[in-house]
Amino acid sequence: MLCPKLAPHLTPMPAQRPVVRLSAALLLAWGLGSCAPSPTSTADTTANSNAPTSSPEAAGSEPELQVVTTFLPITQFTKAVAGDRAEVTQLLPTNIGPHDYQATPDDAQKLATADVLVENGLEMEEFLEGLIDNAGNADLKVVDSSEGIATIRTEDIEGHSHDHAHEGEEKAEGHDHGEFNPHIWLDPKRAMQQVENIRDGLIAADPEGKPVYTANAAAYLDQLKALDAEFNRQLQPFQGKTFVTLHDFAPYFADSYRLQAEFLVDIPEENASPEDVKRVINAARESNLKTLLTEPQAVGNPFSALAQDLNVQVSDFDPMETGGPNSTEPEYYLTTMRQNLKNLAAAFGQ
Ligand SMILES: [Zn+2]
Repeated sequence: MLCPKLAPHLTPMPAQRPVVRLSAALLLAWGLGSCAPSPTSTADTTANSNAPTSSPEAAGSEPELQVVTTFLPITQFTKAVAGDRAEVTQLLPTNIGPHDYQATPDDAQKLATADVLVENGLEMEEFLEGLIDNAGNADLKVVDSSEGIATIRTEDIEGHSHDHAHEGEEKAEGHDHGEFNPHIWLDPKRAMQQVENIRDGLIAADPEGKPVYTANAAAYLDQLKALDAEFNRQLQPFQGKTFVTLHDFAPYFADSYRLQAEFLVDIPEENASPEDVKRVINAARESNLKTLLTEPQAVGNPFSALAQDLNVQVSDFDPMETGGPNSTEPEYYLTTMRQNLKNLAAAFGQ
C-alpha cells in the first residue's frame, strides 16, 4: 500500500546513524561496569553475525532497537512487550488525540531513525501515510496491531444513519472515520490480540530478543485475561442494556460484554445534531441510565444540558486517546479500564 520508492526526497540517513550508535555507547558506559567486554574494542565487527551486509554500523555493540508508537494504548502495549529490550517513543504528545492529529516535520525525523513503527491500524492513524513516505526510511518495519482482528463496519453501527449517505450508497465525504471502527483496544479480548501482534512484530525485527518479548507479552496477557474475566463477571447482570458515551469508541467493548453502546458524536471534535441528541435521550430513558459517560479529552461538558434534562449525572469512560505524563505505562491501561468498569456499573445503577 505504501511505497517508499515514491518518496520525493530522502532524508540523509548517514547523519542519523551516529546518533543511534552514540546512545548505545553511552548506555554501555553508564551501567555495565565490569560486565562490559571492553566496549572500546570496535575492531571485531564480525561479532554481530546477524548484521546485514549493507550495515557497516555494527561496531562494538548492537544499537538498542528503536521503536516508535503512535498513541497511548499502542504505546502501553508495546512497552509491556518491549520491557528494557527496546526504546519505545510515542509519536503523538500524550495530550493530543489521534483523530485529528496533524503530523509535524519532527515526526518524520523520528521515523527516519526508527527501526520499527507500531500502529493501531484500521485507519486510526491517517496522518501516517504521508509521514512514512517523508521519513524516507526503507528499513522501517511497520507493525499493524489490528491484523487478523474481527472488525465492526462503521456503517453497521446504529447512529450513523444521520450521515449523508443512505444505506447501500458509497459513504459520503467529509467524515473522518474509515470503513471499520478503529477502537479495538477498548475490548480487552482484542487488546490481547494486539499485544500478540506487537510481540510477533518485535520478534521479527529483533529475533534475538524473542525470549524476552515472549515472556513480557505472556505476563501482560495474563493481566489482560484477568481484566477480561473481571469485566465478564461484573457486567453479566447488565447484558442487553445500553450505555452512552461521548464519541463512537465503544462498539467492540459492547460486543464483547453483550451490551449496546450509544454515543453522541462520531469523533470527539464533532458537534451533535438534534438527531444525535434525540438518539441519546431515547437510549438513556430506555436503559434507565443513571449517568452519561463523557471523556477526559472532551472540551467542556458536552453532556451537561442533556444530563440536566434527563436528571442524570455525568461521569467518564476514558478511551485513552489522551492522557497525562504517566499514561504511556502498561499499568495505566489496566487501571483506567477498571475505573471505566466502575463508572459503567454506576451508569447502570450499581
Ligand atoms: Zn476515538
